[in-house]
Amino acid sequence: MTTQRTTHQLSSPVTVVGLGPMGRALAGALLEKGHPLTVWNRTPEKAEDLVARGARSAATVAEAVSASPVTVMCLKDYATMYEVFDPAGEAPAGRTLVNLNSGTPQEAQAAHSWAGERGMEYLDGAIMVPPPLVGQPGAVFLYSGSREVFDKQRETLASLGDPRHLGTDPGLAVLHNTALLEMMFATMNGWLHAAALVGSAGVPASRFAELAFGWFMPTVVSNTFFLEQAANLDKAHYPGDLGTMEMNLNALEHIARTSEEQGIHSRQPHVMKEIAEQAIADGYGDRSYLSLFEVFKKAAQAQGPSRPRP
Ligand code: NAP
Repeated sequence: MTTQRTTHQLSSPVTVVGLGPMGRALAGALLEKGHPLTVWNRTPEKAEDLVARGARSAATVAEAVSASPVTVMCLKDYATMYEVFDPAGEAPAGRTLVNLNSGTPQEAQAAHSWAGERGMEYLDGAIMVPPPLVGQPGAVFLYSGSREVFDKQRETLASLGDPRHLGTDPGLAVLHNTALLEMMFATMNGWLHAAALVGSAGVPASRFAELAFGWFMPTVVSNTFFLEQAANLDKAHYPGDLGTMEMNLNALEHIARTSEEQGIHSRQPHVMKEIAEQAIADGYGDRSYLSLFEVFKKAAQAQGPSRPRP
């Protein structure tokens, strides 16, 4: 009890701009941790529950931002952030903005410059959990930008979850966010397409699930899979002694042909097959499937400094 009261006394005022499902969760977690809270949202009715719990609803963004040294923004996207903040004029100068909407690294870098031109300290961030997990231990929040600003705001950021600083480039948080989301979507697509494939023979997804995950987790992705493979990726080391790209292309061809034979969507397996064919055309036919990494890096290499081929 004493500890909680002390935490409440020490918690610094925070403003939250944007009260969609995520903004309301952020605001709720801050109230829960005892931060004096000011909120603003285009649709003010969404603040009612928070006001009932002790938050103050500001009439304008300028008023909201002026109420606290730090403002957490959780709007739809960067374009919305400019639309909402530009009318605030000079009010945000000298304050800290923590932006948690999704976007691209270039958008985050542009936002960092935009904030600097207005005299604001800026951190860009990405939320790696759904709204119900905000404020819970282990809720990962990614941040990038000034380490000094991050350290200064760490206590407030810790009220939202587990804050991780990824580097001073403001684009790093959203870059990591999109990379992790790509993993999620690719895995989901694999599972959904596989379920559709067996479903074409009348097998319900609920029956397939047990076999699928019982096989996938220990056989394809073990606890140490990523760490072990990452070391090889960093060294461009792709020994083909346990299976080659040519052998894997064979399997990918079967997936594409089976999808067609079974009358289900076949674009996804065809794309995977085309990427493996590209790897073979690039000289990786006798290397492991992981040499696909070299194909994936290529467009970036064409735009950036060239790297030596393995
Ligand atoms: P959202 O629909 O992405 O954003 C809703 C917020 O944006 C509301 O405050 C909404 O105001 C405001 N908004 C939209 N257009 C506006 C405009 N033209 N002018 C002023 N305000 C505008 O919902 P969300 O789920 O809260 O997500 C917010 C951000 O968090 C997004 O970038 C999302 O990608 C990210 N995120 C969400 C989740 C999640 O599970 N929800 C998880 C991780 C990250 P009104 O209320 O007035 O419409």
